[in-house]
Amino acid sequence: MTPRQWAVTALVVLLAALAAFAAARVPWHRAPAPRADQIDALGRLDAGAVARAREFHAELRPGRYLAMFLGLAAALVLGLTPLGARLVELTGDHWLVRAVLGGLLVVVVTELLTLPIAIWRHTVVVRYGISTQSWGGWAGDMLKSYAVGAVLGGVVLAGFFTVTHFAPRWWWAFGAAGVAGLVVLLSFVLPVLVEPIFNKFTPMPAGPLRTELLELAERDGVPVRDVLVADASRRTRAVNAYVSGLGPTRRIVVYDTMLTEATPDEVVSVAAHELGHAKDNDVLTGTIMGALGAAAAVIALYLVGSWGGLLRLAGVDSIGDPRAIGLLLALSTVAGLIAGPAQAFVSRRVEARADAHAMDLTGDPETFEAMQRRLGTVNLADPDPPHWEHAMFASHPSTVQRMAAARAYARAVR
Ligand SMILES: [Zn+2]
Repeated sequence: MTPRQWAVTALVVLLAALAAFAAARVPWHRAPAPRADQIDALGRLDAGAVARAREFHAELRPGRYLAMFLGLAAALVLGLTPLGARLVELTGDHWLVRAVLGGLLVVVVTELLTLPIAIWRHTVVVRYGISTQSWGGWAGDMLKSYAVGAVLGGVVLAGFFTVTHFAPRWWWAFGAAGVAGLVVLLSFVLPVLVEPIFNKFTPMPAGPLRTELLELAERDGVPVRDVLVADASRRTRAVNAYVSGLGPTRRIVVYDTMLTEATPDEVVSVAAHELGHAKDNDVLTGTIMGALGAAAAVIALYLVGSWGGLLRLAGVDSIGDPRAIGLLLALSTVAGLIAGPAQAFVSRRVEARADAHAMDLTGDPETFEAMQRRLGTVNLADPDPPHWEHAMFASHPSTVQRMAAARAYARAVR
């Protein structure tokens, strides 16, 4: 068989494995509660708060779509005209320098295009009182995330083009294995390495809440090493909590905003949801699906990237040439837009399962509903967003869906 036939075979095997794994591990049956219950939940929310949340999202919406459009347009222009190749050539003649610096240059150009929108967005979130960040703090966060992106992106670009350089016929095989390994590594390492760049974490002081959270985890069979408080209030009023780490490094992290905005019972309810993710190994499931999907994407890139018409548009001879970075960006941007809604759908089902776990563990759907109402109100979430927008982007069920699920749960157990 030729490398190309091997690639097609490998792609089919990977996609079949992804489909089988997803079929087995994603809780597909957890559809949202009936619409009538959701409308009923909407009626229980404060009308003024709902109007304010909708106004907030109506203000953010144009910028959001403009940024998506500009990102796509820039990627297509850089990828489907020789402009991307020209940009990469500016960084010199050596293939490795072109790969890293040329790649970063292409990304910087697209980032600069959307930077004004990010600035404008910050003015909106400050005006609505969600962000508490000064321009200095905001710019600091942007620079930090650019730095993290540049380091990661540089490693990926150097790795990718080293493989295409030394194995021009079989790079897709090494690339697929490498990217799958990277996804696994990053999902374990990134929280530990990157979280402390943005926030400080301090152990929650001894007291009834800390004791209750540790007992909750123990009772759930998901022992955690510590309960940490993140100093989120220096940038946001939004509330959140999560569980990170695996096995012996697992810890519950609670935003400090949560401790001032929510009741202790509600904090317990959120933590119970997060423990559900740990108990069902959702991070591991996501990591495996991500690794299979990324490996398949590299092989698809090889197959699509051998299409002469595309290469001619980009003014390059091969997708493995660093001058084809613009084309890589265009293809991955389009792939991301297509995969996004599928990922969001899977995420919403997984979140619904963690919600059910929270209510099983606490036996308290009333507090769960109150917590959802509080989270939605404080975070200015649109409690019942437009249907298609929810389908395209939402990683979690909407506030009214989660409140309705709590009512349905309470009905079922009584
Ligand atoms: Zn969750």
